[in-house]
Amino acid sequence: MTTPDSTSPWHARAASLVTDGRLFINGERVPAKDGQTFEKHSPLNGLGLGTVARGQKADIDAAVAAARAAFADRRWAGQSPKARKKVLQRWSELVLAARDELALLETLDMGKPISHSLAVDVPATANCIAWYGEAVDKLYDEIAPTADTALALITREAMGVIGAIVPWNYPLIMAAWKLGPALAAGNSVVLKPSEKSPYTALRLAELALEAGLPAGVFNVVTGYGHEAGEALALHMDVDAIGFTGSTRIGRRMLACSAESNLKRVYNELGGKSAFVVFNDAKDVAAAARAAAGSVFYNQGESCNAPTRLLVQQDVVPEFMAALQDEVRKYLPGDPLQESTEMGALVDAGQMSTVLGYIHQGQAEGANIAFGGRRVRSETGGYFVEPTIFEGVRNDMKIAREEIFGPVLGVIPFANEAEALALANDSVYGLQASVWSSQIDRAHRVARGLKAGTVHVNQYDEDDITVPFGGYKQSGNGRDKSLHAFDKYTELKTTWLRIDA
Ligand code: NAD
Repeated sequence: MTTPDSTSPWHARAASLVTDGRLFINGERVPAKDGQTFEKHSPLNGLGLGTVARGQKADIDAAVAAARAAFADRRWAGQSPKARKKVLQRWSELVLAARDELALLETLDMGKPISHSLAVDVPATANCIAWYGEAVDKLYDEIAPTADTALALITREAMGVIGAIVPWNYPLIMAAWKLGPALAAGNSVVLKPSEKSPYTALRLAELALEAGLPAGVFNVVTGYGHEAGEALALHMDVDAIGFTGSTRIGRRMLACSAESNLKRVYNELGGKSAFVVFNDAKDVAAAARAAAGSVFYNQGESCNAPTRLLVQQDVVPEFMAALQDEVRKYLPGDPLQESTEMGALVDAGQMSTVLGYIHQGQAEGANIAFGGRRVRSETGGYFVEPTIFEGVRNDMKIAREEIFGPVLGVIPFANEAEALALANDSVYGLQASVWSSQIDRAHRVARGLKAGTVHVNQYDEDDITVPFGGYKQSGNGRDKSLHAFDKYTELKTTWLRIDA
């Protein structure tokens, strides 16, 4: 695989990379039962990366059967928390040891800069796995307050077989957010990665086996959403679905549950997060820098990107000037160069969706203050400039719908009440941010914002220790933190009578 600017050593490594797109079921690499595959292309240049197994219902059935058998004989669930911890720790170490390979696969598969895959995606994945491993032998159950005639135990038990369905924007991290708590708790998992980014999930499963996770406990079925994904969501022997993806498919997950066995569904969905800058913010330029960094990171393909920048009228000029300075740091470049800060959009379809929204914004009367075009088309890759709209109104389509690309809009507001009303006027409620030097205002607005996470005078500072998820149509589950165990465990009461 070569591109016109192939001076980075990562190009040589990419050229010699051999991909294996077969399924991972019961500890083995296998083709799809009917032998079907699909071609995977790299967003960096449109060239082929390899063939990937096109899993169907029969493959999901085999993976769920393997997962169920592993759960039933308690080869994993029956191990002590301490023993499970050791395996997860070892797995985390193996992920770190495979950092370069995993990072390269991630970048070639979905387009993000190699420096980000190396510094963020792989270490965060390893950290997540280790963190849940570390947690699991420190969790205690409860004894309820009862009379002397009873002993009431409230315990958490592994649920059984978990279906994990994840998107392409952070393939490793999104998988790890499901796998960490689900596996640490003792469940078996069938993971369906996105058809747009299947490779790292398959390697993750091989590394888990190498670390000592028994065969059958973690299976990966690649394929399309309407085939493999739907078969998993409709399966009668899957106990819960941990889904991360679009709000549209999140609805389908709930319908699949209703149409099958009423399995638990935990949805982590889209966003249109508000970023509110008051004129009393200590440093308006710092706010602009944080906004640009958060929206343009990962090519704007982040569920929590704060794409609605609500800025108090009198500081709009100062904010815009700082944004204009900052945006130049995010000009798309070769993702295999370590200096690149913005890579390629995941595929041609995503690029045309993003460009379509940019045209829509112009048609609705917003002005492009920066960007707006496809660039680097000579590489054959899917690159779009970081794009800033000014003069946006909250009722415009570009302010209401998730674009999932490097596009932000600046919406002026007059006062606190208007800012809060605009921020909450969205079907989404994933994250929000408030910038003010007045602690009472910051608290008041943070309380009023309908969002799963509210950042104050920063954006994106984050840790595995805190929950991640949304209000409203941004979903119902919470990934990360100890709260994620709630999703993959059943709560049991055992009431023992104690005779006098
Ligand atoms: P998507 O909904 O199109 O696909 C997500 C996954 O669902 C993929 O694996 C896909 O193959 C599968 N799928 C598609 N149709 C299906 C069906 N009918 N049945 C079962 N599975 C099906 O989303 P995407 O384009 O991959 O990802 C982008 C979306 O993910 C954005 O909306 C983004 O906001 C969201 N996201 C949310 C979070 C969060 O934590 N809230 C994190 C990352 C991404």
